[in-house]
Amino acid sequence: ENVVVAVDGTSGSGKSSTCRAVADRLGLRYLDTGAQYRAITWWMLEKGVDVHDPEAVAARAGEPVLVSGTDPLAPTITVDGVDVSVQIRSDAVNGAVSPVSAVPEVRARLVELQRELIAPADGPRGGIVVEGRDIGSVVWPEAQLKVYLTADPAARAARRALENGGADLTATQESLLARDRIDSGRAVAPLTMADGAVHVDSTELTLDEVVDIVVGLVME
Ligand code: C5P
Repeated sequence: ENVVVAVDGTSGSGKSSTCRAVADRLGLRYLDTGAQYRAITWWMLEKGVDVHDPEAVAARAGEPVLVSGTDPLAPTITVDGVDVSVQIRSDAVNGAVSPVSAVPEVRARLVELQRELIAPADGPRGGIVVEGRDIGSVVWPEAQLKVYLTADPAARAARRALENGGADLTATQESLLARDRIDSGRAVAPLTMADGAVHVDSTELTLDEVVDIVVGLVME
């Protein structure tokens, strides 16, 4: 049986580090759907598309070719053959990804891609840990385990600022909260706790502790 673990939650809750470690420990593949939304956003910015014009974004949502590598120790993402792993973490992409992700045509495109990666039409390639905002609610509601991972805003900003080489805390927290607001308030697939999800609050936990909890839940 190919297990699917769905991990949803807010920006900076520790999803990526947790999911990669869980996938590595359990010998599963790993898919970062946030990286896909970021990559399509990067492409829109490159092409000069007005990211605050949903119709303009929708009109071109089908064009970029995205490829995600699912090795938890070395995840990759390319757009039209270009590796954009670094570029998708820029301030420009941080500021544009939530409005782009709110466009239904973008979501339809990426959800299709995600389902094909989770369970390819030509046969299963093994279990997978998938992280995002709508994995347990929309992409794969039949996941064997759904986790809803959260943390206090200050803890999330501190972690993200550290990842970004000591970026300004206040600015980082504002950017996280702005994305949370749009992600939770949008009409299509807003961030919510999926039916049957287990809520894990990582504020007071180390990464290892969160990983142990999630691995334990998969083994149950
Ligand atoms: O997870 P990460 O912070 O990299 O996601 C970046 C953005 O991509 C989120 O703020 C959200 O707007 C969007 N996203 C989404 N649905 C997902 C994953 C990410 O809308 N499944």
